Amino acid sequence: MTALVWFRRDLRVHDHPALQAALERHEEVVPVFCLDDRLLAGRHRSGSRTQFMLECLHDLDRALAQRGGRLVVRHGPPDLQLLDLAREVGAQAVHHTYDVSPFARRRAEAVYRALRGVGVEVHGHPGLTVADDVRAIATAQGQPYSVFTPFYRAWLAQPRRPVLGAPRRLGLPGVDPGQVPSLASLGLEQEVHDPMVGGETAGRRRLDAFLRSQVHRYADAHDALGEDRTSRLSPYLRFGCVSPRAIENRLTEGDGQTAFRRQLAWRDFYAQVLFHHPENAFSEFQARYRGTLEYREDEPAFEAWRYGRTGFPLVDAGMRQLLREGWMHNRARLVVGSFLTKDLGIDWRRGERWFMRLLIDGDEANNNGNWQWIASVGTDPQPVFRRIYNPALHMERHDPEGRYVRRHVPELGNVPDVYLREPWTMPEEVQRTVGCRIGVDYPAPLLDRSSARERALDRYRTAAARGA
Ligand code: FAD
Repeated sequence: MTALVWFRRDLRVHDHPALQAALERHEEVVPVFCLDDRLLAGRHRSGSRTQFMLECLHDLDRALAQRGGRLVVRHGPPDLQLLDLAREVGAQAVHHTYDVSPFARRRAEAVYRALRGVGVEVHGHPGLTVADDVRAIATAQGQPYSVFTPFYRAWLAQPRRPVLGAPRRLGLPGVDPGQVPSLASLGLEQEVHDPMVGGETAGRRRLDAFLRSQVHRYADAHDALGEDRTSRLSPYLRFGCVSPRAIENRLTEGDGQTAFRRQLAWRDFYAQVLFHHPENAFSEFQARYRGTLEYREDEPAFEAWRYGRTGFPLVDAGMRQLLREGWMHNRARLVVGSFLTKDLGIDWRRGERWFMRLLIDGDEANNNGNWQWIASVGTDPQPVFRRIYNPALHMERHDPEGRYVRRHVPELGNVPDVYLREPWTMPEEVQRTVGCRIGVDYPAPLLDRSSARERALDRYRTAAARGA
């Protein structure tokens, strides 16, 4: 008896329920990954994230090879490729980890149709989220949650499956495994300069280091931009190189551990939101803002935002970190998101797309959920004014010595602390002395924040009245 294990964004061998189930129920197991042009060249096409994924695939292949197996790599739609492979190896079943995004679900449905049509069983397993099945977490009225805190309470009470080890031995698939292609051969190029390395090996190492020396300070330090004390596990979670359930299982008591567990719950929350509201991928969750908000078209301002040239140091530092690393600190994501959607009044979907192009952790559920959150159009609502973030104030709180800003915006390197948050207030003489002339070496501010704030509040008020 032979089974395929269809890998998607669960690129690991540890704590992999689908792989484990296949090994328990079948003599031969063939691990397979399908490169799908609809994703590689689709609306969330990304050279940086694809490169990270290819590194994950190499690492997975190595881990399987160490156990006597290989990863079979196919190129094409999974329904056709899996059907073909199942015929070739005589598989009776396919095991996979369930996913929540609308595209992932459509793809899985096509696989179910194609394989069940020829008598091959298809089984979905948990592994994507911490809780066994976020799809089933519901209010007393049987509705999905749209506010985080009650979701979190229910989530804590959900069942958890036992964590699984990695398989000891796998057989060689009796087919040509193919090979992991290069990024260039897929027609993509790396757009960021200094990204994290992909793969389960790197992810497990990062997790170990974080649990050993950082997590106990997480509650106090996770917003400290200059210190960079978050786990940076998001790209590894995005591709399933580390299992969210296995991470949670290693957390003990303490403020840092509790705060970190809560953060993992946000990931499960947005998975649950997108599962129940697939339409969120394209439109505002809050009906009153659907089609009622007037977004500004301002290409020069959008370009300035994308490339970190707005004249607001914290916004520019965040956007340049994204260009450099394909990753951005959460606090900075919030500030740049607020700036784009509120100060500039530009459609949140444009920010969402830019993030998806560069982020190595770019994940439809998390990215969409968070963009809608900061644009005040999504779940977990609050009055609009609460989510209009002042970059200078956030710098004062979370980057008081300007370490984060100076790291990512080198032309501000010599600007005295007192002017760093609002460099345009620097007297001309100081500008000359420190070699940072506003409007020449560093951009003048793109806008006046207090009038931008008023305009934003006005836009949301008008939209809400239209949508009422
Ligand atoms: P840690 O602080 O160490 O947290 C641990 C894990 O918890 C993260 O790896 C992540 O999986 C989860 N988590 C933490 N915060 C959030 C959150 N707000 N929402 C959902 N999960 C969370 N995260 C992504 O993984 N992919 C995205 O595409 C993405 N886009 C975002 C867009 C915007 C506008 C904003 C404001 C946030 C976005 N986030 C996204 C959430 C968050 O910024 C990142 O998960 C976090 O910065 C990753 O860094 P970390 O692994 O060091 O996080």
